[in-house]
Amino acid sequence: MSHPTDFTLTQAIQALHSGEISSRELTQAYLDRIELLEPDLNAFITLAAEGALAQADEADSKLIEFRKNGIENESPLLGIPIAIKDVLVVKGLRATAGSRILESFTPPYDATAVARLREAGVVILGKTNTDEFAMGSSTENSAYGVTHNPWDSSRVPGGSSGGSAAAVAARMAPVALGTDTGGSVRQPASFCGLTGLKPTYGRVSRYGLIAYGSSLDTVGVLGQNVADVALVYNSINGNDPRDATSTNQPRQEINLDGSATLQNVRLGIPEEYFGEGLQAEVESAVREAIRVFASMGAEIHPIQLPHTQYAVPVYYLIAPAEASANLARFDGLRYGPRIEGVDLRDTYRATRGHLFGHETKRRIMLGTYALSAGYQDAYYGKAQKVRALIQRDFESAFETVDLIAAPVAPTTAFEIGAHRGDPLAMYLEDVYTLPANLAGVPGIAFPVGFDSRGLPIGMQLLGEHFREQQLMNAVHNYQTVTDWHIKRPDL
Ligand code: GLN
Repeated sequence: MSHPTDFTLTQAIQALHSGEISSRELTQAYLDRIELLEPDLNAFITLAAEGALAQADEADSKLIEFRKNGIENESPLLGIPIAIKDVLVVKGLRATAGSRILESFTPPYDATAVARLREAGVVILGKTNTDEFAMGSSTENSAYGVTHNPWDSSRVPGGSSGGSAAAVAARMAPVALGTDTGGSVRQPASFCGLTGLKPTYGRVSRYGLIAYGSSLDTVGVLGQNVADVALVYNSINGNDPRDATSTNQPRQEINLDGSATLQNVRLGIPEEYFGEGLQAEVESAVREAIRVFASMGAEIHPIQLPHTQYAVPVYYLIAPAEASANLARFDGLRYGPRIEGVDLRDTYRATRGHLFGHETKRRIMLGTYALSAGYQDAYYGKAQKVRALIQRDFESAFETVDLIAAPVAPTTAFEIGAHRGDPLAMYLEDVYTLPANLAGVPGIAFPVGFDSRGLPIGMQLLGEHFREQQLMNAVHNYQTVTDWHIKRPDL
């Protein structure tokens, strides 16, 4: 038997169900590995070892009973450990969102995605590191220290779901939840050699997700391969009356039985995603992967998404505008710590002034400005109009192609500190991921090679709204004939 932390999720499920291993043993193996690697990687903000072992014991008694009575276990995730990004609330576990302003906040309820995983019987290992309020592309904006990339500890794991990505890449968890407002599942998946799904906007409830940009926020999954990601996605998606923007569609069950081929699938290659600034090694790995898709029957079509160049300015108006409104609730009175001032205004000022980090303050200022009287039409209103053009780009592209193939990020994982003091350079890292969020379409990132430094290269497929099955079929086909997703960092 290989070491339990080497299992894919699919293998761990088999081992649990056959009785080869117990959930307690599996959970303990992950906790031991976290203890070993966490000092170097800093993937977690809060660990939940005790609760995890209790949940594992509960799962074990169910698994034993099912086996004894020959009952078919209908919940594949029963007894499976998982890590949760610290912007999703878990009842009774501190939720910081990477911010000091929430350093002492323990939520009294579960996010819907978490509640559904709990019903499925998962074991929650802990809460993973993130840029403060998910604002960033590197985890460097976390108030709890940077997370290190398991492939090269001098580099970032990407962000903002960098803690989730590092945890899965380092085998400190078999799978993890992340969130993607502008790329925060796909880009860290790409930087850490993982498969990461950003579902259609509304497909997974945002209830219990600490809001960043509410019209863009999605809850996604990071795993070692698409089959693992699909298993978690299956239990978290679907209508939720607690989120008014959630889809009215019932829960979708992804099926990757291999029957769907790439024959006649029309793959669009947007010229705007292969321009200036794209690292040559990233481009050649992505183009090679496209050849693999073609060799399996996909038709390759050059396409255009002409408003791509506006995605960065549009996103960096809309996301901060929404964030400035969402973050108004952190006033030192309702959640977390308070710095007492001489009067109410002074209390607000002291609490928010001291406990929000630099990037969060920058976004609040940007957003407040973009929404202020006299400027709203020129900035926020204009951005909304251009957002509609970006959405239309995708609509017309999907009239001629089924899926769109592109790089996830212009570069592989950059060095910690590379963009220190240069927020614009950091924002430009998001150029290929933001458009999908602005349009609300689903996307999936997956590994397609390594650069000359041995750092993973990712690419993404984007699909029409609610076409997650088609996206995952395509990646499943690719992962059947390639083995980039099997490579592991030496730790
Ligand atoms: N990097 C982008 C930002 O800083 C996206 C973050 C995200 O998807 N949460 O806003």
